[in-house]
Amino acid sequence: MSNIEVASTDIVLPLPTSVDADVAADIEKESVFVSPHVERIFVEPDGRSVRVVLKERAPTEEVRDKATRYLDVMARQVSGFDTKVFLENKRQDKGPYLADANLRLVEQGWLHDYGKGQVAYSGPVLKLAGLISDKAGELYAATLGAKDGQFPALVDAEILHKCGYFDSHPNAVTFVGNVIEDFDAIEAFRQANSCSEGALLPQPDHVHVDGMCLNPAACFPCYPTMTGRTLQTGECHSWLGRVFRYESRNISGLDRLYEFNVRELVFVGTDEFTRECRGKALKIVNELIAFFDLDAVVQTATDPFFATVSAAKKFWQQAQEVKNEILIPVAKQDGSRKVLACGSINLHGNFFGTKFDISCDDGEPAHTGCVGLGIERWVLACFSQHSLDPKRWPAAVREQIF
Ligand code: AMP
Ligand code: ZN
Repeated sequence: MSNIEVASTDIVLPLPTSVDADVAADIEKESVFVSPHVERIFVEPDGRSVRVVLKERAPTEEVRDKATRYLDVMARQVSGFDTKVFLENKRQDKGPYLADANLRLVEQGWLHDYGKGQVAYSGPVLKLAGLISDKAGELYAATLGAKDGQFPALVDAEILHKCGYFDSHPNAVTFVGNVIEDFDAIEAFRQANSCSEGALLPQPDHVHVDGMCLNPAACFPCYPTMTGRTLQTGECHSWLGRVFRYESRNISGLDRLYEFNVRELVFVGTDEFTRECRGKALKIVNELIAFFDLDAVVQTATDPFFATVSAAKKFWQQAQEVKNEILIPVAKQDGSRKVLACGSINLHGNFFGTKFDISCDDGEPAHTGCVGLGIERWVLACFSQHSLDPKRWPAAVREQIF
């Protein structure tokens, strides 16, 4: 919860019920999706009311109504669950955390931030990103027999719909737009840009959105490739996937990108098989945390669902312990700590097996589960915890990246 100056145009609204720090953080984060006229919403320290910070010339009454409906669903979220901790590691490196590692990496020339949630990297940052992905891939192959693969960055809306993504995260989707197949529209677009100073986008009625999206979760494109198959006990797949999530104004450095990489592991088979795989994957995650020498915990968690679906789905995820998160602390700009969700370990039950017609020998729909490691967040966590001084890094990592 943050304190901010109140401008005369800001609106103060009561919350329908008082909220704890977790729900307050969710309200603030998701507030970028409330209205184009809202800068942000901040929860007051007592958790009983909020300040809605408006943009210039905002229609106050319209925003008040929208924000009230938003707060009504967000404040009803269940929180305060007992979290169950599955593993905890303390690093060997005793040096201080590096404040604002994002900026330090830019200064080193190893990271370029385009400013819209995309980054380019090279040198030790690139080598570390590759090492994290490769090391996880090798362990998954050795322990679980995970097979390699490659999947497209574009995904059909029909697939996302089947995966339930429009229902759970409608705010995060990116649709691809193309200039319509029309000689005049294409020519108008070409001519407008041929002598313009900056890029001019085609007029809205000259663009069509035909249902291709940028893939927002690494594992989705893998399920349609298994349609119609009957598996014996089960099988595992692992690959490096490119993922896109529209995070609006929440983008920030390597921690919250629009476009990022995920080392994915998917296991498909009987219920028992997927639970066994989850157990083995947890051990591998433990090995990775130790290999990179990180302070970290793995514990039960819930997805940041869109406001109106939050309550029920979060409750279900917590109660069933189907989502565990790898939480790794980093230092913020001012040196204080925050925890980054660097990966998730999920069980999906027979949801994807049913939707994509994948079955097991016993005739039942296959169960699935996945582990996604956010590569850029792991990179940030490693530099934050070991600094830019190679001497502080574990020898096996140092030799490969510096
Ligand atoms: P999820 O499927 O939502 O659990 O995401 C898998 C992992 O991707 C998360 O645990 C994060 O480490 C990473 N991740 C999610 N969103 C972002 C983002 N906007 N920027 C960078 N990494 C992210
Ligand atoms: Zn997944």
